[in-house]
Amino acid sequence: MKTVLITGGSRGIGKCIAENLARDGYNVVLNYNKSEKQARQIQKDLKEQGIKIEICKADVSKREDVKKLVKFTLNKFKNIDVLVNNAGIAKLQMFNDITDEDWNEIIATNLNSAFYCTQETLPNMIHNKNGCIINISSMWGIVGASCEVAYSVSKAGINGMTKALAKELGLSNIRVNSVAPGVIDTEMNNNIDNAIKEEIKNETPLNKIGKPIDIYRCVKWLIEDEFTTGQVISPNGGYVI
Ligand code: NDP
Repeated sequence: MKTVLITGGSRGIGKCIAENLARDGYNVVLNYNKSEKQARQIQKDLKEQGIKIEICKADVSKREDVKKLVKFTLNKFKNIDVLVNNAGIAKLQMFNDITDEDWNEIIATNLNSAFYCTQETLPNMIHNKNGCIINISSMWGIVGASCEVAYSVSKAGINGMTKALAKELGLSNIRVNSVAPGVIDTEMNNNIDNAIKEEIKNETPLNKIGKPIDIYRCVKWLIEDEFTTGQVISPNGGYVI
């Protein structure tokens, strides 16, 4: 049975990926940071369906927490076959309003986390000569978003890491890809005005806002695929082509 470690699994996209992969029969370690109650609820709900998952608190923007998270996963399941770097935060603000604290928090949570999680997981994957790393990026990392410069930079960084690392790890049979979603209906977008969401929907060729399940489907495909690496795949309804 394959083992998946997913960061930021307590809500939204991460929750959907974790729940569905658990239903598909994967061993799942769901990481959370602040939302302990939600993480416990997911574990409880799945248990009632006869499915066991592990949950582990860690602030993935911190190296020491990530070390503990990876150790926890290896103690439980011996291997990590799939790492999904999903944890992320966003903040809408004008470029000149970004403080050093804002900048550092966004880069640490969205980009450094993927650096730490990947580095701590790699020795096990290299030893097994097998692994799949999926970085949840964003279409804004491809085209840039006004009033989300720090976020766009963090996601563009993720895409750069994906491409460079895929070249380095190919011979170890480790695939590295980015999934760069369009706008997805989660709590992350609660602060976006409904009128703006409607506008985005109308400008999207498929005429809809995405759902977490759309991202799960892409992740699942990447896990099962054997010839895709170094790619930035963007399920976005055609908003960015
Ligand atoms: P949510 O805000 O719904 O969920 C974010 C998740 O990240 C939560 O589970 C949260 O956990 C976790 N998280 C945040 N900071 C940390 C941290 N320091 N350590 C561990 N976990 C952390 O967001 P989404 O589900 O929408 O987003 C998931 C990913 O998808 C993000 O990387 C986001 O950038 C990306 N994305 C989202 C899009 C969207 O439109 N929703 C579009 C494109 C990309 P907790 O609450 O426990 O701290």
